[in-house]
Amino acid sequence: MATDLEVARKIASVNPSTGEILRKLACAGEREVQEAVTRARAVQPAWADLGLRRRIAVVREFQKKLVEKKSEIAAAITREAGKPLAESLVTEVLVVLDAARFLIDNAWSLLGDEVVPHGNLATKLKRGYLVREPHGVIGIISPWNYPFSIPATETLAALVAGNAVVLKPSELTPLVALELASLLHAAGIPKDVFQVVIGEGPAGAALLNSSIDKLVFTGSVATGKWIAAAAAGRLLPVVLELGGKDPMLVLDDADVDVASSAAVWGAFVNAGQACLSVERSYVHRSLYEPFAQSCAAKAKRLRVGNGMDANTDVGPMIHERQVRIVESHIEDAKARGARVLAGGTRLPNLGSSFFAPTVLADVTQNMRIMREETFGPVLPIMAYADDDEAIRLANDSEYGLAASVWTRDSERGERLARRIHAGTVMVNDVISCFGISEAPHGGVKASGVGRTHGCFGLDEMVRLKYVDVDRIPRMKKVWWYGYGESFRRQMDGFLDMQFARSLGTRLRGALRSASAIGRKQL
Ligand code: NAD
Repeated sequence: MATDLEVARKIASVNPSTGEILRKLACAGEREVQEAVTRARAVQPAWADLGLRRRIAVVREFQKKLVEKKSEIAAAITREAGKPLAESLVTEVLVVLDAARFLIDNAWSLLGDEVVPHGNLATKLKRGYLVREPHGVIGIISPWNYPFSIPATETLAALVAGNAVVLKPSELTPLVALELASLLHAAGIPKDVFQVVIGEGPAGAALLNSSIDKLVFTGSVATGKWIAAAAAGRLLPVVLELGGKDPMLVLDDADVDVASSAAVWGAFVNAGQACLSVERSYVHRSLYEPFAQSCAAKAKRLRVGNGMDANTDVGPMIHERQVRIVESHIEDAKARGARVLAGGTRLPNLGSSFFAPTVLADVTQNMRIMREETFGPVLPIMAYADDDEAIRLANDSEYGLAASVWTRDSERGERLARRIHAGTVMVNDVISCFGISEAPHGGVKASGVGRTHGCFGLDEMVRLKYVDVDRIPRMKKVWWYGYGESFRRQMDGFLDMQFARSLGTRLRGALRSASAIGRKQL
């Protein structure tokens, strides 16, 4: 149903491999989005009151149901997002199962009250502790590239912390979001505690402008900046998980065979449409040519096709508009002197959204392929001379999501990792940190604000309240009114007693402080 003021707009969920329309769905209007949030707000207190133990039990039930339905869910993801079934299982279903495991194992200790010991002598007569409270209703806006694992991991963390959730999934993958809703509801999450509102950008904007208490957004930098500006107007807290241009640094002592296999997987997994990725590679000049040739040979061997075929390595891109971005980046690179070692073209015999895994050599830092997020199956390779240059090139980007360093010497890799400006740096691996449920996920610079996953992701789902309890309720505090010379001497002595370096000054301070203590009159 549309709002009174607008004609019901429909979106079509399309299988990117075949072009088949899977289903048409009506978009939620502003009023419907607000109604969903209002319903969520009404039921959220009861959900929070259920208690952490019962909410964890629901997560356990969700995990059980997901294991039972893993093949169905994987097929639904592949049908709507195109990725190979193996990737739907490993990078989506497995990631969510493990995120549930993390919450089952850790939510109890991470969300419980926490004593705050006091170091300041003046506050020793008080005790304090932290209480983690749900925000209320959390809005989640998600993209199409990981249509299950992104909203599901964020949703589970929000729900276990006692929030209600309204999810606005990408307009390109609404059916996967509805599968997530069925699983959560079957596991015992009340219908209004988790709701999905379907639609394009305007439905997302409606969720942002509704009465939600926090927004967790994953998507492009452009939309993220717009959201940040709009949220600032009402001080709505937001987590922004945005785009990246992840560099891969192949050092002069790297294993070329291993590093080139990593580059090929990191650049072409999910047809290159991964936020954590290999978007650009920098290779020490001593390994440059063998690395580039190895990547090209491996890219040519990849089997591109319908993700439903178990033998497919690389599926289609999500949409023709994404293919056009890839083409324009490759054209720009070729026009400025890049060499195409593999691919470089569409594969129209397979369908309008298929693009050949592409390896580009002789790229330069000023090309669009090295500066803008390509988000497609392209691996650009550039040579560098020494570690300092590699770090400079890696950091020369508006993005800072993730990076990887490849070397036989882990300590050297870790030293360089510390110099790279990114939310995550992997030494001798790419991307898989997204599947480490304990590891925080998020970026620096234009790649975003805040974290999801792990204890820091859980922290985003709660408001921190500090409760302070005075142990002697009938005593007036020494720092209250009643200022004068005696008070000044008392404080002077107290500061010396606590913070002066020499023992003599500290003892004198203690005496001054004690001798000045008088009964509070005010
Ligand atoms: P997008 O920004 O176009 O859309 C993301 C979501 O925002 C969609 O649900 C969309 O409908 C909604 N949206 C669009 N305009 C909106 C508006 N004005 N107000 C509110 N919502 C709006 O991004 P996309 O194309 O769906 O996803 C690809 C991008 O997401 C890439 O840049 C990728 O790097 C990024 N991404 C980042 C991460 C991460 O964890 N950092 C993960 C996955 C994808």
